[in-house]
Amino acid sequence: PCLSGGSVLGAGEERDNALSLAMRSIDRLARFSRKVATSSITVTRAFSAESGRLPDDFLTRLLARHPALQVSTNSYDLESHGRGESHHPTSPPDAVLFPSTVEEVQTILRLCCRESSSKKKTTGGDDVSEVDIVSVIPYGAGTSVEGHLNLHTPPDEVREVPSSIFTTDIQEKWRKVRFRRRGGVSIDMRNFDSISDVDSDAFCRFMIDPGADATLGGMTASGASGTAAVKYSTMKENVLSINAVLPPDTILSANDDEDAGAVSVASVGCAALKNSAGYNLPSLLTTSEGTLGVITDVTVKLYPIPSYVVAASCGFDDLHSAAEAVTLIKMEGIPVSRIELLDEMSILAFNKSLGVDACAVSHEGDDRDLRVEPMAMKPHLFMEFAGHSLVREDLSAAQSICVEYQGTNFQSAWDEATRQTLWAARHRLYYSSIALRNGATPQSTILTDVCVPLSAFADVIGWVGAEVKENGIVGPCFGHAGDGNFHCILPLTEEDTEEYKAKVWKLIEGLSDRAISCHGTCTGEHGVGSGKKKYLRRMYGEGGLKMMRAIKNSLDPFNM
Ligand SMILES: Cc1cc2nc3c(=O)[nH]c(=O)nc-3n(C[C@H](O)[C@H](O)[C@H](O)COP(=O)(O)OP(=O)(O)OC[C@H]3O[C@@H](n4cnc5c(N)ncnc54)[C@H](O)[C@@H]3O)c2cc1C
Repeated sequence: PCLSGGSVLGAGEERDNALSLAMRSIDRLARFSRKVATSSITVTRAFSAESGRLPDDFLTRLLARHPALQVSTNSYDLESHGRGESHHPTSPPDAVLFPSTVEEVQTILRLCCRESSSKKKTTGGDDVSEVDIVSVIPYGAGTSVEGHLNLHTPPDEVREVPSSIFTTDIQEKWRKVRFRRRGGVSIDMRNFDSISDVDSDAFCRFMIDPGADATLGGMTASGASGTAAVKYSTMKENVLSINAVLPPDTILSANDDEDAGAVSVASVGCAALKNSAGYNLPSLLTTSEGTLGVITDVTVKLYPIPSYVVAASCGFDDLHSAAEAVTLIKMEGIPVSRIELLDEMSILAFNKSLGVDACAVSHEGDDRDLRVEPMAMKPHLFMEFAGHSLVREDLSAAQSICVEYQGTNFQSAWDEATRQTLWAARHRLYYSSIALRNGATPQSTILTDVCVPLSAFADVIGWVGAEVKENGIVGPCFGHAGDGNFHCILPLTEEDTEEYKAKVWKLIEGLSDRAISCHGTCTGEHGVGSGKKKYLRRMYGEGGLKMMRAIKNSLDPFNM
């Protein structure tokens, strides 16, 4: 955060007071609140004695230890926690747990790795201990789109492990162990936070805006960003420190108490803006997608709220010209705070969502007759400039560049209500795009995500636009253009032929391949989940995967 020279703070004593208040609020930074978030999910404690594939006494032991812990095995909760948004199939957990304290999270993880009976079974002359492993999926708000929340249980396996790995001290050196996979639980972390809990105030705010109603834990774990990243960057650059409950590295022995070999809580990073001590562990946990631990606390940067915000939009004859205008705006160093590119089909989706007429919009406290009008059917840039003084100059410099690329109908809006009206096409894009196809829903829609170096942006987005047209695919393309990050919304329906679906998948594969070939990435902000795993080898090679496996195996030796 930088407060120097900000006109936001007024003058004289008033300014000093405001400055000290703002500094305090920056020091406080934003933290997860322990406040219980209101959730629309029905939480029921009326679960069947034990659920699905879980070990027999898993839930009863958990509740004996934490009687206030909310547990649900009702089918609605299981289904809704077994998927995010988008097209990936549902793969429900066996129970959903709603912890509200770090200790509850620790006990859950402790019980997820436990010897099932102290009696060893004998197979083929060998004594084999049985250990039950319950898979764990941390759950934020469930808005991820790449199958992050689908439960996959690895196969059972028999391994020899050092006996010291059991919490009971025993004398043998090695034990043969059968690791039995016993279903999975979803740990719903919404009692820990929501973005609105971030401790911002009249001067400072958390600026990362993923566009969906996500949680801080989920945004951290998936390395989210969004429209404001061009000015404020991504979660990776905004997370200063994290507390996370790590998976156990010991097995709870059958007769041992749940406290034995308690699982660790790691506190990594610090609240200072610079830190060169040790490995960059907050960055490691950011984008870990729930595979390295359960995040319970995050400290993020706050930024001063700008005094002036101006929005603008401009139409272009083709996608390529609009994309090139973006590159030049960035190269000239014009400080845009958002710059979004929508293709012609996105504008069509918006116009269709309005029907034939202009649509009246109401804004609280604003009596004007504001109308959202249909837009010219051409690619558009939507921009925002924010700052404390020079916004007008920034706006006019961007306008000159747009005109240079034959941009037309450049409009700007200074107050909140007209800004919202001007940006309506962007705000409504996701649902108006899905509505382009009868019968499509968010759960049948594929939302792609790639990010390329700015020098390749115009070519790659131009290529997708052309492919979509040529193949008769319904797929509005839009992007956080200032970062070279863009998406294609591909609604599918039950009536789609295999041929149509094959064309859609070919487009997605081609897009990811193209992005990787020009030294970009198969995902700029949505993450890997289960959908993008296949591209990691291509991006990082065997060496990169080996490092990731080594980190995973050492932090989560039982692959929970
Ligand atoms: C309409 C729409 C628009 C979107 N726009 C954007 C956008 O502009 N930018 C963007 O970045 N994303 C966007 N997304 C994707 C999504 O909103 C983000 O990925 C978001 O960060 C997910 O947060 P969540 O709280 O919903 O997490 P979830 O979906 O619940 O979980 C995401 C991942 O994080 C893990 N996780 C969740 N909580 C924790 C925790 N406490 N500890 C450890 N791991 C955890 C989960 O296991 C999972 O792997 C959009 C999605 C939709 C549906």
